[in-house]
Amino acid sequence: MIDLKNLTIKKAHKMMEKKEISVSDLVGAYKKVIDEKNGDINAYLEVFDDTDELAKKYDGEDIKSKPLFGIPFAMKDNILIKGKIASSGSKILENYRATYDATVTKKLKDAGAIFLGRTNMDEFAMGVSTENSAFGVTRNPYDLERVPGGSSGGPAAAVAMDGCLVALGSDTGGSIRQPAGFCNAVGLNPTYGAVSRFGLMAMASSFDQIGPITKNVEDAEIVFDVIKGDDPKDSTSSDSNISKQNNKKEKLRIGILKYNQEGISDIVSEYYQKTLKDLKDLGHEVIDIEIPHIDYSLPCYYILVPAEVSTNLARYDGVKYGLSKGADSLLENYMETRAGGFGKEVRRRIMLGAYVLSAGYYDAYYSKAQKVRAIIRKEFEEVFKGVDAIVTPTSPTQAFKIGEKSNDPLQMYLEDIFTAPAKVAGVPAISIPAPVKEEELPIGMQIIAPWFREDVLFNLGKQLTKEN
Ligand code: GLN
Repeated sequence: MIDLKNLTIKKAHKMMEKKEISVSDLVGAYKKVIDEKNGDINAYLEVFDDTDELAKKYDGEDIKSKPLFGIPFAMKDNILIKGKIASSGSKILENYRATYDATVTKKLKDAGAIFLGRTNMDEFAMGVSTENSAFGVTRNPYDLERVPGGSSGGPAAAVAMDGCLVALGSDTGGSIRQPAGFCNAVGLNPTYGAVSRFGLMAMASSFDQIGPITKNVEDAEIVFDVIKGDDPKDSTSSDSNISKQNNKKEKLRIGILKYNQEGISDIVSEYYQKTLKDLKDLGHEVIDIEIPHIDYSLPCYYILVPAEVSTNLARYDGVKYGLSKGADSLLENYMETRAGGFGKEVRRRIMLGAYVLSAGYYDAYYSKAQKVRAIIRKEFEEVFKGVDAIVTPTSPTQAFKIGEKSNDPLQMYLEDIFTAPAKVAGVPAISIPAPVKEEELPIGMQIIAPWFREDVLFNLGKQLTKEN
């Protein structure tokens, strides 16, 4: 029996090197768990049928040849794998088959990864609970009555139930970090531009980033090293700046922000205080900081994101690809296809986005939010002159009950209070598990670093989770 619960990329590779296990054994072990648990949890929407064949091909190869040799991955349903369905959790793309590999997919395949299947998500990545999926909710493996977070709830639950070693997610306002926090995993949101978005279905293009959900910080670093970098197919990607600095021993200056305690659960506050104490015990300096307009991050996010959503989702028109109702006139076909294919939250965002972009309201909302975004970015720049990182909780609460917030979109939006600011500024952030007790639900702590300083996240993340 392989101890999947405590397995990491390095451990798996060691076992393969010593010939204790083969790639087929590893893939088989995960598939067995999926067979047993996926019926209850619904992390996977589909398990691919070519994995055994692929694993067998690797069995004879030299493991040193590839950094992710034989490592079983779960894919979020909005990242393309050539020949596989990618539905983005939506009826409108239920039968859409990708005609090419996303850049990250290609890089991971080249590095030896094996994709076990595609995992559930909130429709087009809009949500914090996976309740917005057209294919049923995913349940949190730590408590089946509760949500796994979202929108990458499927990927996070797949890692937490030991249904894969690594999952790939996307983060627009918190969708990697928040579900990782709810599922006791590590979730990395890279700097905007550090990882190519080519082949990721666009939600809000100036916010979206792909990143890994893993068991520990080191695995997140290994995967990031494989997927990062400039891509001619994504003009917003860049690698010239990705830091290779290694400041392991350095005493760091950690900024902490004043938050209105309202809405933050006691246990999250308690573990946050504990984290700050741990930071001091590790020899770092904890400094009070101010980002004066940070409270506007969430309102700014929920204006700009719907605007980009309404534009990006215009392509699902019943003509180009995906669902088509085949109505008599073109206009009727647009209306029937989009009304029948999109769920409630997606339609809400499209309408909000069209509204803030409309001629009469553009200046009052969209243009103003862009200005606020520029101010917040500047304030982050200023603050990072004085500190190396900022530490906050990842989410204001632990995993909530299925159905608890689903009729209150504003409550849902407030879940992003800690995760949205980094996206408004475009800086990298990671969620690491707090050391909760066995009987407590998982809690995530967030580290935010300056642009392209993922190395600071990995360094501090490993210290806090005692990986070093
Ligand atoms: N919860 C946020 C939203 O609904 C973030 C989603 C995401 O990061 N994809 O917009």
